[in-house]
Amino acid sequence: MILKATDENIKKAAEVIKKGGLVAFPTETVYGLGADALNKEAVAKIFEVKQRPLIDPVIIHISKFGDLEKLGYVDERAIKLAKAFWPGPLTLVLPKKDIVPNIVTAGLDCVAIRMPAHPVALKLIKYSERFIAAPSANLFSKLSPTKAEHVYEQLGDKVDIILDGGKCDVGVESTIIDLTTEKPTILRPGGIPIEEIEKVLNEKIEIAKKAKIKAPGMLKKHYSPKTPLKIMENPKPIKGLKCGLLAFKEEREGFDAIEILSKKGDLKEAAANLYDCLHRLDKANVDIIIAETIPEVGLGRAIMDRLRKAQGL
Ligand code: AMP
Ligand code: MG
Repeated sequence: MILKATDENIKKAAEVIKKGGLVAFPTETVYGLGADALNKEAVAKIFEVKQRPLIDPVIIHISKFGDLEKLGYVDERAIKLAKAFWPGPLTLVLPKKDIVPNIVTAGLDCVAIRMPAHPVALKLIKYSERFIAAPSANLFSKLSPTKAEHVYEQLGDKVDIILDGGKCDVGVESTIIDLTTEKPTILRPGGIPIEEIEKVLNEKIEIAKKAKIKAPGMLKKHYSPKTPLKIMENPKPIKGLKCGLLAFKEEREGFDAIEILSKKGDLKEAAANLYDCLHRLDKANVDIIIAETIPEVGLGRAIMDRLRKAQGL
């Protein structure tokens, strides 16, 4: 059931969370599929509904800075980053405290925590008086939802309530940074550019090598539309195939469907439109989606990461 995210409906949804149910809700990155993080059975429902393998850990969402240390062991770097970027699209991976159930962390001894910036997400966490475990509200490995309808299309009535808060602003998932090691590493590029994190920590940050799969966002095929996708620097339609184009800023000739990420060539706008454009191209009945390369700076890195995973190479 989709409900408009009014205060009354957020309170209704908070009751569902308290009782161990599932609520899909808007965050500034993508829509999340939430359950009470400390209730194992409730979290298990997330995995069931998403058809997500149990080896894939889930991020816990909090609404107060003080809650960070209830879930994980905090160091100076974590405090600096939380102060600089929360509420916002940055997830911190810290050594976990015992109250966090193993199902949430997929048996890992670290926990991923974030304070989202969306007012509806923050209210839902506050009203439910719980920490909310939430991956993106889509079927495993499929396109992430940036609108309530995207959630309904994939998960339907398996979710107790879908709170409709409109379109997500950032549009790509959070940046995940691993702080369990001496040298912090980026497990997934996302809504906060790495350059900004480097400024705050005053050190160069590595992006984790593919071999060390800690976050499934690091799997080779993920975030993918049903239609095959191919990245091209200079997109041209392929003869004999109906081709859709995912362009950065300009249209090109000869395509059967075209989506433009940002006519201004603005990376922020492009990230916010990414999944919505892919959802539309996926429904446009084309044989292949050709995606134009995006400059790999700032948010461009997160966009290219998602496009490569959608391509599966
Ligand atoms: P999703 O919200 O579905 O985009 O997925 C959440 C991402 O956070 C996944 O790629 C997870 O693997 C990652 N993640 C969640 N918990 C942990 C953790 N404890 N350690 C490392 N990565 C995590
Ligand atoms: Mg996901």
